[in-house]
Amino acid sequence: MSGTPIVLLARGWVKPGGWDWVKRFACADAGVVCKAQVTGETEEEVLGKAVEHARSAHGVDLAQSTTLANFARSLIRDDGAAARS
Ligand SMILES: [Zn+2]
Repeated sequence: MSGTPIVLLARGWVKPGGWDWVKRFACADAGVVCKAQVTGETEEEVLGKAVEHARSAHGVDLAQSTTLANFARSLIRDDGAAARS
């Protein structure tokens, strides 16, 4: 194993070998004036964090509506693809 600090792994920012697994959701992409971003290993993880954020910061329950949830999911970007291009 490499010497990558486990705390960074736990936070989802660094993985030995690259960034190809990182998904990101930026609140601003939803048209909200907000600088919050969430990242995660999978779409589900990112979506879960986005739902949490929307609820606590904006009083919007994304999980209440399939349309909203799908909209939020469509905004999730794959950081790996961006890093490679
Ligand atoms: Zn926000």
